[in-house]
Amino acid sequence: MEIKLIQGDITEQEIDVIVNAANSSLLGGGGVDGAIHRRGGPAILEECRRLRASHYGRGLPTGRAVGTTAGDLPARWVVHTVGPVFSPAEDRSELLASCYRESLRVADELGASGVAFPAVSTGIYRWPMDDAARIAVGTVRAAATRVAEIRFVLFSAHAYAAFERALAEAGSP
Ligand code: ADP
Repeated sequence: MEIKLIQGDITEQEIDVIVNAANSSLLGGGGVDGAIHRRGGPAILEECRRLRASHYGRGLPTGRAVGTTAGDLPARWVVHTVGPVFSPAEDRSELLASCYRESLRVADELGASGVAFPAVSTGIYRWPMDDAARIAVGTVRAAATRVAEIRFVLFSAHAYAAFERALAEAGSP
């Protein structure tokens, strides 16, 4: 597996799968979620609504992932995952790791060879960037997956630097 870091906008990625840091309603929100639905057009939201009605009446649980069309985006599919809200009182790291593992499992089911991830939970859900980067890098490196290329698409220089440090700390594969 090859891991690449890019500073940029995930909606512009030409790759099989882009991962959305969604919320459990699957009905859109701010941050990456808002950008994906704006740029991807209404087909994504329509499929999310259908999924919600058929399978996730109470919402998609935290740590889980589900795939839809990518609508007008250059990617082929969007995999929506629900990150945990950061809590200083409770260790929710396993749920954040689960977002990466479950997204890769769905990507494998779709037959994807490349997956682009944002830094899940580090925006509205307030997860500290360095810790989120360590969990993201450690989890994808340990994942049993056929996905050959992982791209972390980081919006800010601050996020990019945190992922660079996490990759360096993890050492060579
Ligand atoms: P969460 O609710 O999981 O925290 P957010 O969408 O608020 O999700 O933020 C997750 C991360 O994605 C943040 O680091 C944010 O800066 C970043 N982000 C926001 N928009 C984009 C985008 N278009 N492409 C890539 N990353 C983005």
